[in-house]
Amino acid sequence: MAALHKEAIAPRSVSKSAKKIGDAAKKGELVQMPEPKKKPELGVDREPTEMTFSKAHEVHTVADQLIERGLPHMATVKQARILYIFSSADHIAGCEEAIAVSRYPRKLLPLGKFDFIVMVSGPRWQRSEKDVEWRKALVYHGLSHIDNDENGRWLIARHEFTGFLAELNTFGAWTESLTRVKQLDLFAKD
Ligand SMILES: [Zn+2]
Repeated sequence: MAALHKEAIAPRSVSKSAKKIGDAAKKGELVQMPEPKKKPELGVDREPTEMTFSKAHEVHTVADQLIERGLPHMATVKQARILYIFSSADHIAGCEEAIAVSRYPRKLLPLGKFDFIVMVSGPRWQRSEKDVEWRKALVYHGLSHIDNDENGRWLIARHEFTGFLAELNTFGAWTESLTRVKQLDLFAKD
């Protein structure tokens, strides 16, 4: 994580053109203004240029501990080859905006033999330094998305329950998902 942190606080170097303009201005020279940067096209999904990725050894360690504890479903996860990475993004399109699990792209197999990528928001991980339980719960959630079918083919498991509390209150458990939530609630009251 040290590398990620360093990158995050490293001062931006002054661009060559900006320096050229600055130097010339001191001398009173005329300089050609650089062309403005092209705006990104509308509808084109671009990653912010400053986003960086690094290996997430700390996440890997927590995951291995969870797998070795023999928690539910972890025997399946143990068979998967997982690449753990940090993103420098604060918000990740995934779960809790902090973790995202995806299949490892086949085209990247020459670079490493993996089945899944578990990506965690580096900034959120850093901020949770003192909240060990949050970290464990987050990683366990991510690992729970790793699953296989009856033929042993890897897949991403969907959430077992989704919905809004308001719809449950208004319309009751009208979906299979909300029925599970209702059952959990009943268990909690026992
Ligand atoms: Zn999830």
